[in-house]
Amino acid sequence: MIISQKKPDEEILSYLEGAKKVVLVGCGECATVCKTGGEEELENMKAFLASHGIEVVGSIYPQSACNKLLMKKELKALKDVLPECDAVVSLSCGDGTQTIASLIDKCVYPANNTMFLGEVERQGIFTEACRLCSDCVLAYTGGICPITKCAKSLINGPCGGSVDGKCEVNHDNPCAWIEIYNKLNKLGQLDKLEKMYEPKGYKDTAYPRVINLREEKHDE
Ligand code: SF4
Ligand code: SF4
Repeated sequence: MIISQKKPDEEILSYLEGAKKVVLVGCGECATVCKTGGEEELENMKAFLASHGIEVVGSIYPQSACNKLLMKKELKALKDVLPECDAVVSLSCGDGTQTIASLIDKCVYPANNTMFLGEVERQGIFTEACRLCSDCVLAYTGGICPITKCAKSLINGPCGGSVDGKCEVNHDNPCAWIEIYNKLNKLGQLDKLEKMYEPKGYKDTAYPRVINLREEKHDE
């Protein structure tokens, strides 16, 4: 799940300087779970903007703001109010905000900061889990991501700085490599630690990446 956090009120207001009428777009997926883009947050944003003299002339709550096809349909509900609004405020993640911006010729401003791809530990508690490195090594690390959970993203064992099982960079976190060792030990797979892995080739990654499943099928 994409974890997001609401931006400070002052920052949102600074984007909207001079705006009198705005449209709000929420998101029924991750942003709802994160309490940054659900129906309640849309209502709160509406009241907040009204208290600063900005009228919300329309809002939608799409199932998924990052789904371009879906958003194209959802935005039709705003066809009467979009021409008269000064800006659109997106309460989704950065992906959803970009999707909306790509579909309309209006200024689209993010209400949220997109933080990370994470696990929902329990309601309102999220932990970063994956940095989308494109070359997953979880098969060798007992299902614990060294790229994300180790502060130095080490892939060939610990740095040696851990104290009392904690990471030397952030003492609040356990050392990921101790966790990986313990998990592999439990699984009877300590031999996996003997393999040396090549440094990951991040420099070869050209952003933005595109995956086209249709093309792949075509090539088969
Ligand atoms: S190794 Fe870690 S960062 Fe890379 S894809 Fe797997 S979980 Fe994500
Ligand atoms: S102490 Fe452990 S988690 Fe922290 S940087 Fe070193 S190896 Fe990574």
